[in-house]
Amino acid sequence: EWTVPLLVDWIRTYADDVAAAADDLTALDSAIGDADHGSNMKRGFAAAVTALDEKPPATCADVLKTTGMSLVSHVGGASGPLYGTFFLRLGAAAGTETTVDATTFGAGLHAALDGVRARGKAEVGDKTLIDALTPAVEAYDAALAKAADPSDDALVDAIAEATKAAAIGRDSTTPLQARRGRASYLGERSVGHQDPGATSMALLFAAAEQVTR
Ligand code: ADP
Ligand code: MG
Ligand code: MG
Repeated sequence: EWTVPLLVDWIRTYADDVAAAADDLTALDSAIGDADHGSNMKRGFAAAVTALDEKPPATCADVLKTTGMSLVSHVGGASGPLYGTFFLRLGAAAGTETTVDATTFGAGLHAALDGVRARGKAEVGDKTLIDALTPAVEAYDAALAKAADPSDDALVDAIAEATKAAAIGRDSTTPLQARRGRASYLGERSVGHQDPGATSMALLFAAAEQVTR
């Protein structure tokens, strides 16, 4: 199950990962956007880590909501409100507990996906982070449905399956023409480039896999 320290570890690990990948994410965004996705993600998650350090979270919801608020208030680009919504919704599903089991986390992922879709109005195939997030949530569900009970093994397993699906979803964005976000302004010229947000979303699941394994 997720605990407060494990969730903090997820955010810290991801903050390190997006900092390390910042140049790559920005290079992807320079091809079909405005070359700031790496710096946006790096800044937002560094702010989240600072906020978590300043006020140690008592509950799982605290970790996730503090992260979401930091993203919303420190990232002006599309990714700030979208990742912010993701974590705020995930946090709302966590309730006031100090642990989150596989079933509750799955419900949180659904709430997060619904929230991001409502905010960005993107569907699968629009060449956005939705293309990585949607199959990840579906793979998580499928893995959990196969598990006998929502045990720790089931959580680790479901996150690993979600991570694989997110990477496939990320890769699926390359041949697509963008229909949402800045990349959509390029029309057909957006074809042949991997979406930056789908790339950072796949990294988010990979970080979750790394800390839960
Ligand atoms: P901006 O485009 O404002 O500079 P970023 O570069 O940080 O913001 O993030 C760009 C990423 O945000 C895109 O690669 C895409 O995955 C995602 N994105 C943009 N618009 C939307 C949307 N409406 N719905 C979902 N994701 C979106
Ligand atoms: Mg950008
Ligand atoms: Mg921008």
